[in-house]
Amino acid sequence: EKFVYDFTEGNKDLKDLLGGKGANLAEMTNLGLPVPPGFTITTEACKVYLDSGEEPTELRAEVSAHLDALEARMGKKLGQADDPLLVSVRSGAKFSMPGMMDTVLNIGLSDESVAGLTAQAGDERFAWDSYRRLIQMFGKTVLGVDGDLFEEALEAAKEAKGVTVDVDLDAADLKKLVGRFKEIVARDAGREFPQDPREQMDLAIKAVFDSWNTDRAKLYRRQERIPGDLGTAVNVCSMVFGNLGPDSGTGVAFTRDPASGHQGVYGDYLQNAQGEDVVAGIRNTVPLAELESIDKKSYDQLMQIMETLETHYKDLCDIEFTIERGQLWMLQTRVGKRTAGAAFRIATQLVDQGLIDEAEALQRVNGAQLAQLMFPRFDDEATTELLGRGIAASPGAAVGKAVFDSYTAIKWSRSGEKVILIRRETNPDDLDGMIAAEAILTSRGGKTSHAAVVARGMGKTCVCGAEDLEVDTKRRRMTVGGRVIEEGDVVSIDGSTGKVYLGEVPVVPSPVVEYFEGRMHAGADDADELVAAVHRIMAYADRVRRLRVRANADNAEDALRARRFGAQGIGLCRTEHMFLGERREMVEKLILADTDAERETALEELLPLQKADFIELFEAMDGLPVTVRLLDPPLHEFLPDITELSVRVALAESRKDANENDLRLLQAVHKLHEQNPMLGLRGVRLGLVIPGLFAMQVRAIAEAAAERKNAKGDPRAEIMIPLVGTVQELEIVREEADQVIAEVEAATGTRLKLTIGTMIELPRAALTAGQIAEAAQFFSFGTNDLTQTVWGFSRDDVEASFFTAYLEKGIFGVSPFETIDKDGVGSLVRSAVAAGRATRPDLKLGVCGEHGGDPESVHFFHEVGLDYVSCSPFRIPVARLEAGRAAA
Ligand code: PEP
Ligand code: MG
Repeated sequence: EKFVYDFTEGNKDLKDLLGGKGANLAEMTNLGLPVPPGFTITTEACKVYLDSGEEPTELRAEVSAHLDALEARMGKKLGQADDPLLVSVRSGAKFSMPGMMDTVLNIGLSDESVAGLTAQAGDERFAWDSYRRLIQMFGKTVLGVDGDLFEEALEAAKEAKGVTVDVDLDAADLKKLVGRFKEIVARDAGREFPQDPREQMDLAIKAVFDSWNTDRAKLYRRQERIPGDLGTAVNVCSMVFGNLGPDSGTGVAFTRDPASGHQGVYGDYLQNAQGEDVVAGIRNTVPLAELESIDKKSYDQLMQIMETLETHYKDLCDIEFTIERGQLWMLQTRVGKRTAGAAFRIATQLVDQGLIDEAEALQRVNGAQLAQLMFPRFDDEATTELLGRGIAASPGAAVGKAVFDSYTAIKWSRSGEKVILIRRETNPDDLDGMIAAEAILTSRGGKTSHAAVVARGMGKTCVCGAEDLEVDTKRRRMTVGGRVIEEGDVVSIDGSTGKVYLGEVPVVPSPVVEYFEGRMHAGADDADELVAAVHRIMAYADRVRRLRVRANADNAEDALRARRFGAQGIGLCRTEHMFLGERREMVEKLILADTDAERETALEELLPLQKADFIELFEAMDGLPVTVRLLDPPLHEFLPDITELSVRVALAESRKDANENDLRLLQAVHKLHEQNPMLGLRGVRLGLVIPGLFAMQVRAIAEAAAERKNAKGDPRAEIMIPLVGTVQELEIVREEADQVIAEVEAATGTRLKLTIGTMIELPRAALTAGQIAEAAQFFSFGTNDLTQTVWGFSRDDVEASFFTAYLEKGIFGVSPFETIDKDGVGSLVRSAVAAGRATRPDLKLGVCGEHGGDPESVHFFHEVGLDYVSCSPFRIPVARLEAGRAAA
């Protein structure tokens, strides 16, 4: 095994072995670009070291051989007294990692060779400044000396001399400072600064290996889900100096604008300086364009090189370069980071330039970037007071007056006010208030709390679980760290960062949403450039994707929006959302019914309302499938809160005026009260124990479909049974449903072609999918409940309670309620797909949990062979894009 590669031996595709930096240095070297010679020690060597605590035995000899070659080539030896070869030692993992050691420059300088450098450079100050930098960087990153000690000594030196900037220290001052720095090292590290250049290099290499496992690096890897066993490469590169006078300098550049994607000259240059001066902002840089007048030859060469790089990498590159006495050197390049908007623009620009094809363009953007482009943004929040921070539950930016109950939210919004609904947590009762509000803010609950899920569904901004806020709904106010925010005070909330501000932050709408809504066209003028790019990328995605994309929607308005956004049907209509508001009383009657007659009356009242809902929905989705799910939630959700009602009844009783209805209600509430309602009387179980409930819903669907047919519409309803655990449950419900459908068909004289399927959202359903498919014409994976039941995590509680700790400990990098847990929940989905299709080859398969709109999960669903994903209307473009990316 070979552990060291000369820059001439590697290439850009060897990132696993050489790290990002090393692979790209090699690539540039082989392109014939001016890269200072050097070599890369592989990640494999690092792995051996990390596993065994020892460097591989061959490493020393290999490094020696490469160092010999480098010295021969440069015509001088590392640290040679009269003309020292100096090198930098830099870390470079496959993924760039801010938690890791970066660079030690000027290795090879010592008390002896500093004189040689002085003679060669003809500049004593430069030589001592370089030595001072070496001891400082080496001391801090290799020997672990507290960096502040050096900074303080440097400050003291400047103060003693009465100057404010480093450059005003002369050679004599720097010589003294080197002495001080050496003392600091000796004292703080317990050893002398090593004078042997090879020892310097070897220690630096080892320090880079060790930096892989610092706490910061480990934490970063867990958060970014970078595997812990990749290791880092080490780059040893001959030094070039940008601080050798006015004809030297250093800079960074982009091959095109990382903010807009426009071609042009973008970057910064700093004359007579070394790389870290630019980063440290010690002196002001000038725009790169000015290099043309400073050093025309180097400038022209740089422009030429940037063009070469872009054509070669077929992408925006960023670079670091140094000019040493008029000679240009490339120190680094990589495919550059860019804003979300630029990603879309650049991808289409590169297609136009013939550098990449459409399939490749799809890989250059992602759903997270598209989502980012779809939110309205705060313009300038820096000037507004930050009140607190919660979980960024549903992105966007919203401003409005604080209100603390749904009633006020509705009332105020009707009179034209913008309001932010602030609650401790929300429940289905708050739905109207949430619709009326600009945004929702809660002090409790996580990313799958009611507030979060519903807000995301509506595309409404939401921050939840902002625990610093003490919400007092009774007194209509909240307190934050002693500060009181009253009803009517203006607050601004950012659902992308979770930040909550007091007062108004200006908001700009998203042109991309204006485009999806059909309010803006993909024209060619400057403002629409982004929209034009998005338009083209979406067309590529739609052309190649195999997965269809449906919406979770339960009213015509959402359905119509979903269609505009490209939905190919509804994958989940939650009928419980149709039983809220004024209709709740009817549901209450149904629940309280003592006799068959009472129950039938209640159902008869509900039937025409349900039917009207479905007619609207089928009309909005005419020609496309609409999956209607029969009632799912536990019934107590339709009844008053047990504590509130108990108090009310107790008070009334003490006044001796308790009313009959309240007493009955309380009895029912007690009867229906469950310790674990999510595992209780809900889903198909309701249909099996409440006679006539599912039949009424099926009848409403069938009659609505018949009516749409008579009106020459094309309704394509699919009836879905929730929370099935065994095929027997489904068989019973199906028998009843088939009968109702047959009755409606007979009565209306129409063939309805309704299909009946089930949700797969319990482990048992997934495990017996082969049996369940006997009775189901389609499956829709309910990955919210499936995640809840597979992990045993309460979807309503865990994100606010212990998920933060889990994320911090790296147990998972992202909540399994957000991104599908491929190994656990995902493997159940995979096997259920196979078992279901084995029973019924034409079984239609979809997913309608929150994961249906999550980028990473969409790729998984593509891979396991689902037919469609269903998600909230606002996430449809993201799902379309990711489905395209998965297939391209
Ligand atoms: C699910 O469980 O994934 C699902 C879509 O149903 P609900 O979220 O309504 O329980
Ligand atoms: Mg469910």
